[in-house]
Amino acid sequence: MPARTLFAVPHVPFPRSSTPTACHARPDLFIPDREMGSQEDLDRIHRAKSMCSTCPVIEDCLKWALVNPDLAAEGIWAATTPRERTRLVKLIRRPVCTSR
Ligand code: SF4
Repeated sequence: MPARTLFAVPHVPFPRSSTPTACHARPDLFIPDREMGSQEDLDRIHRAKSMCSTCPVIEDCLKWALVNPDLAAEGIWAATTPRERTRLVKLIRRPVCTSR
């Protein structure tokens, strides 16, 4: 089977900042190189999330990650883990009850 090529959703621009973002300065904190679960991993995630919290493009970053789940399948994006992003997408897609 040929490899699948992934494309970003075109109407949501990739987050761009005029200053270097923390994830570019310290990619080792944002992209796991192994299974997560140790205290060291949890500390790393906490540090990455903390750095995201002051990022000037956090809103655009979250939008991009949520609409491009295959391209943002791993790592910390906008202070969220993959599991948290999956939960957010489910919440967003949940039908809203309009009857009273
Ligand atoms: S909010 Fe997004 S762009 Fe900013 S540091 Fe976090 S992962 Fe990087």
